[in-house]
Amino acid sequence: MAQQQDDVFKKIVSHAKEYGFVFQSSEIYDGLSAVYDYGQNGVEMKNNIKRYWWEAMTLLHENIVGIDSAIFMHPTIWKASGHVDAFNDPLIDNRDSKKRYRADVLIEDQLAKYDDKIAKEVAKAKKRFGESFDEAMFLQTNARVLEVAAKRDALHARFAKAMNDNDLDELKNIIVDEEIVCPISGTRNWTDVRQFNLMFKTEMGSTADGAMTVYLRPETAQGIFVNYLNVQKTGRMRIPFGIAQIGKAFRNEIVARQFIFRMREFEQMEMQFFVRPGEELQWFARWKEWRLRWHKALGMGDEKYRYHDHDKLAHYANAATDIEFLMPFGFKEVEGIHSRTNFDLSQHEKYSGKNIKYFDPELNENYVPYVIETSIGVDRMFLSVLCSSYEEQELDGGDRRVVLHLPEALAPVKCAVMPLVKKDGLPEKARQIVNDLKFDFATHYDEKDSIGKRYRRQDAIGTPFCITVDHQTLEDNTVTLRERDSMAQTRVNISDLHKLIHDRVSLTALLRKLAD
Ligand code: ATP
Repeated sequence: MAQQQDDVFKKIVSHAKEYGFVFQSSEIYDGLSAVYDYGQNGVEMKNNIKRYWWEAMTLLHENIVGIDSAIFMHPTIWKASGHVDAFNDPLIDNRDSKKRYRADVLIEDQLAKYDDKIAKEVAKAKKRFGESFDEAMFLQTNARVLEVAAKRDALHARFAKAMNDNDLDELKNIIVDEEIVCPISGTRNWTDVRQFNLMFKTEMGSTADGAMTVYLRPETAQGIFVNYLNVQKTGRMRIPFGIAQIGKAFRNEIVARQFIFRMREFEQMEMQFFVRPGEELQWFARWKEWRLRWHKALGMGDEKYRYHDHDKLAHYANAATDIEFLMPFGFKEVEGIHSRTNFDLSQHEKYSGKNIKYFDPELNENYVPYVIETSIGVDRMFLSVLCSSYEEQELDGGDRRVVLHLPEALAPVKCAVMPLVKKDGLPEKARQIVNDLKFDFATHYDEKDSIGKRYRRQDAIGTPFCITVDHQTLEDNTVTLRERDSMAQTRVNISDLHKLIHDRVSLTALLRKLAD
């Protein structure tokens, strides 16, 4: 990570703590690695993200319904899904620093270094040639760039093959050949690459024969698969239809990095969409587009998103893409969209011995449906919103402020009501306004400190509107409405507040954008 971006990220992490968004878990016991708690503002924002996703799925699509399945499931489910045998990451240790890494991540970082080199050459040339610089031409003809690109492409091909073949020796060879060093010790004293299963195990009950080993689910999807026929039958659903679920997932990640980007306990929002065999790639393309629309509707900047199609397909998939978001540490996966074929359902049919075929009344045929999955991490989504909203602003007159330009529908607090002074009946009037607005919007009342300080406090948690009650309010029932981003202040009638705020902060307005 470039130093400057690294500093910004550190500031975002401490801001998240200072303003009650995210705390390290068990902090007073020195923390628990890669586990985090959400504070008073964090939980509100997280709930808003979940609501936005849930309503976009279940209100806007009449053929999508939700479920809430248990975290514990019959252990054979994880045998059938392939997680017991194949939910592994390739792990490597550096003997000098005793640090553990994911071999694939070390190689991906090396690929990113080649990309950085090319970007630096482009930046240098841009400076040199100024206006007349033709970037596409430069990338195709510059000898230095071509040399680096050839190395990157060769590494990419070799890496993709090793991952697809599950060839651990080859992953080690790549690390040796590329002369990758441990970022801590700076040495190349590596162990062999080994597989490491990411599922957490625990024990359930105690019988004469001993307890049963159960797993904490590493994804919510399987709870949907094993219930798909229950929902289809009781809800009289017809294919194509979808089932949505939000819930916790657990992965014993080898390396915990980048705050809430990679956690050991996290939350997923997953939707499995059941379709006719042969139609899955059409639906895959549709969901790819719909999901990107959902992200872009938040208005955080279209240029911050890109698709990344997978080279290495999971054992169950016939197409897969990630939606990546530009974090301070580069473009990173926030959501995965996978065409999972009929793999999971067929496996559950095989392992359970039950017939779970769907009867298609139009085709008059029984079949195991194909599945398109959209899977997004709540916490990664939260991080992308936080990072993209954070700004330190220099203001006129030498003043400074830290502001979170949160998408208004996701902001934890929608408006703050402030009496200009703590006397003359202004607090009472302000309380009346709070009592009117609080049924529809998360509303704060604040009378402490100067009005400037109170504005800064709300800016720091991303509150879109501040409402100030002054002496004029008592005379004509108007207040000052201050907007977070522009800091513009307008005089409005109290009776207009509700509509003004609602039009900007409601989820409905956001959802309407998706339906257009
Ligand atoms: P990665 O390659 O980053 O490990 P993945 O491809 O294994 O992720 P999926 O299994 O596709 O991830 O999970 C779907 C989504 O769940 C991801 O896009 C991400 O948003 C989220 N997610 C996965 N693992 C974690 C984690 N350890 N911490 C937080 N979110 C996660």
